[in-house]
Amino acid sequence: MTAKFSLPALPYGPEALNPVISPATFAQHHEGHHKAYVDKLNELAATAGLENASLIDIIRKRADAKPLEVSNYVSGGELFLQAAQHFNHSFYWKSLSPNGGEPTGELAKAIDAAFGSTDNLKAELSKQGAGHFASGWVWLVSIGGKLSVVSTHDAQTPVIGTDLKPILTIDVWEHAYYLDHKRARKAYLDAVVAKHLNWTFAAEAYAAKSTDDLDLGIGNG
Ligand code: FE
Repeated sequence: MTAKFSLPALPYGPEALNPVISPATFAQHHEGHHKAYVDKLNELAATAGLENASLIDIIRKRADAKPLEVSNYVSGGELFLQAAQHFNHSFYWKSLSPNGGEPTGELAKAIDAAFGSTDNLKAELSKQGAGHFASGWVWLVSIGGKLSVVSTHDAQTPVIGTDLKPILTIDVWEHAYYLDHKRARKAYLDAVVAKHLNWTFAAEAYAAKSTDDLDLGIGNG
């Protein structure tokens, strides 16, 4: 079997977000957890005869989706879970940055329209991420151009909806923060939103016609 999907390289060094996310966390999370999802995905995609499908197509084919109702997403089995986690983690690495800057251009306008200010958006991401029960993800999404913050459980992902584009995500599974922040999920989220969101990537994701057009380095060409 030829491995089709691949673990993307981190877009920064493993020290770059220390101490908010330490090299030890990256080692476990990127080369441990994420790589395991990719390996299992390659095995299951080959078994299912889907080795020629793109990652996002696999996710959409296997999802029982209600695209505009993120909280109602239902997974479509083991292949969906592995594919979605590959997508979610690849999107998360891109959502982070050593020095994220601030939103600009059309994205900044859309943030002001939806939240009043970037600070309000950051507070909402942190609040929803901290309040999310158990494992999952908090997302900034665009639904037909309008921004909103949503959270998803376990491997669930907004990329299943064609009218719904993820713009940024933060992993709130314990493996994302436990080594560095113990059970203080809110401290991890506050630090990430304050310093380490990649607003350049967010602007690309917002401007893209479709999430399929973004280069996430995930081996789905
Ligand atoms: Fe994770």
